[in-house]
Amino acid sequence: MKYISTRGDRTERGFSDILLEGLAPDGGLYLPTHYPKIDAATLQRWRGLTYAQLAFEILSLYIDDIPAADLRRLVDATYTEAVFGTPQITPLKPLEPGVQLQALSNGPTLAFKDMAMQLLGHLFEYELARRGEQLNILGATSGDTGSAAEYAMRGKRGVRVFMLSPHGRMSPFQQAQMFSLQDANIHNLAVEGVFDDCQDIVKAVSNDLDFKRRHKIGTVNSINWARLLAQVVYYFAGYFQATRSNDEQVDFAVPSGNFGNICAGHVARSMGLPIRHLVLATNENNVLDEFFRTGTYRVRGSAETFETSSPSMDISKASNFERFVYDLLGRDGARTQALFGDAVARQGGFTLTPDEFARVAGFGFVSGSSSHADRLATIRDTFQRFGAMIDTHTADGLKVARAHCTPGVPMIVLETALPAKFAETIREALGVDPAPPAALRGIEDLPKRFTVVPPDAGVVQRYIETHTA
Ligand SMILES: *Cc1c(COP(=O)(O)O)cnc(C)c1O
Repeated sequence: MKYISTRGDRTERGFSDILLEGLAPDGGLYLPTHYPKIDAATLQRWRGLTYAQLAFEILSLYIDDIPAADLRRLVDATYTEAVFGTPQITPLKPLEPGVQLQALSNGPTLAFKDMAMQLLGHLFEYELARRGEQLNILGATSGDTGSAAEYAMRGKRGVRVFMLSPHGRMSPFQQAQMFSLQDANIHNLAVEGVFDDCQDIVKAVSNDLDFKRRHKIGTVNSINWARLLAQVVYYFAGYFQATRSNDEQVDFAVPSGNFGNICAGHVARSMGLPIRHLVLATNENNVLDEFFRTGTYRVRGSAETFETSSPSMDISKASNFERFVYDLLGRDGARTQALFGDAVARQGGFTLTPDEFARVAGFGFVSGSSSHADRLATIRDTFQRFGAMIDTHTADGLKVARAHCTPGVPMIVLETALPAKFAETIREALGVDPAPPAALRGIEDLPKRFTVVPPDAGVVQRYIETHTA
């Protein structure tokens, strides 16, 4: 399998070439040259596989430059009961008839990002060792992504993580999760500023090309193809659990922000998995819901980006969305370049032609949005009726899912985080505190390892210099 850019550069690259890269040189995102079609016999055979076996089968279709035995070893080391809490890895939990949650957040940081990031940690360590190279990952986080990256990379050879977070602004639980890591290759830098200051520092350091090259600076952001690919697996796993035969269709509802999770659903559907609808759910930051209702994609400025109680979906610009639009446009790289390279950059958005927009239906997408009041009501209702405590992001997904259910078609709502991460809103909805899983009880009291730095890229660069020597 080879990979090409969404913006017209058709240079073909191998999986290992793009694994450690961010954007393609022309500014586009990498996609495989095609999506392998899964025939009925293969789908039937996959039904009986464990999660790790299934992951190996799917990854093998997209990765042909890592020997099969090695890939199997990496996948087996990733998807274990010890890391994800159950033998099924992503079990379904029934709610009302026809509706179930798929648990994607039983990994070490209690959010679905672990599903992909844990694999990425193993892949990075493997590839860096093979090349005899080192990588210093620099990132900014307000919570979820940073901790998922740190738990994936801790103790991995050849990788160091330098993670910037706004000093004193994360929840005590999130701080404890990150700062209690004692691994020598993990560096927490608490920036005296807000999240935007952290991001500005990452940008400044990454734009210093000489520094970037000398210190092997890389990222683990959500546009990484390997992350997306890892997420394709749980759509198959969810489908097999919700159905008895491959003649049945299902719907998936996906709490969405950067369009990474649901884009994996689009890939699974393109491979022939019988998904009827991909139900995209947003919070008050409804850029994507607006697109799927109107055909207009309008990026928001920071003044128009709301801080909500489902903060991991507070995005103004969906970084993976270009991948879907490229497919929607029949893989026309020039048109994708015109929309994302020109119109988004210059006018902050675009409107599809009526002909282009008419194609969306064929891709199975429907959408809706949710508000703080909806989240509270959904959390309360789900707790009262089923005794199930759900987090704020999952509540957005469930709220929108309920508006799109059809009798006879199972609706699988992806559970993207556990309620323990968002205690404040759970307390507001239910008047009780969500209990963290047993393994994480008391982490707030562990010794913390972090360095406070001013919002100054030069200071961060010097810190990296002294800690990579
Ligand atoms: C990242 C995240 C999302 C959004 O996922 P995307 O892939 O960015 O669409 C939703 N819920 C939670 C809890 C997250 O951490």
